[in-house]
Amino acid sequence: MDFKQYVTIVEDYPKEGIRFKDITTLMQDGPAYKAAIQALGEYAADLDADLIVGPEARGFVVGCPLAVEMGKGFIPVRKAGKLPREVLSVDYGLEYGKDSLTIHKDSITKGQKVLITDDLLATGGTIEATIKMVEELGGVVVGIAFLIELSYLNGRDRLKNYNTFSLMTY
Ligand code: 5GP
Repeated sequence: MDFKQYVTIVEDYPKEGIRFKDITTLMQDGPAYKAAIQALGEYAADLDADLIVGPEARGFVVGCPLAVEMGKGFIPVRKAGKLPREVLSVDYGLEYGKDSLTIHKDSITKGQKVLITDDLLATGGTIEATIKMVEELGGVVVGIAFLIELSYLNGRDRLKNYNTFSLMTY
């Protein structure tokens, strides 16, 4: 399937000069959304992950259906102040901004194999912060799956020690 035909490029969003990849047009097409999640599932099939971890909000859009498809648990990574129990927190830089991410401290046990998911790899800051949290909790990152990778931002350089997959590359 040519997945790129379902992604809408939005010029100058959220800032001038940024060509935003809008995946909501992929999500709203049932067969395309399902096929995209299944393609990530094929990548994940050999990784033997115990858990899926994804950052809000579009990491949920990818990670939750994938977790259900694989029969695995899903662990949310959220912005500060959103998770109700004790959290681990890390600061990170974005393609456009700065923030901190949190994860429930008791969500991963030492040695558990984790597959990280997000909709898109840009500079890699979000995923680097997510990896840091997973590893600090004792998880082992066995794979990282994206719908989209923006290769011109070189995010993959920051992930070179990890098994990484993206369905579409721009
Ligand atoms: P990074 O941390 O790799 O620089 O940025 C990736 C994060 O920013 C992802 O969580 C992603 O949701 C969001 N993001 C950045 N650019 C885009 C874009 O063009 N389209 C979408 N859908 N998300 C983006």
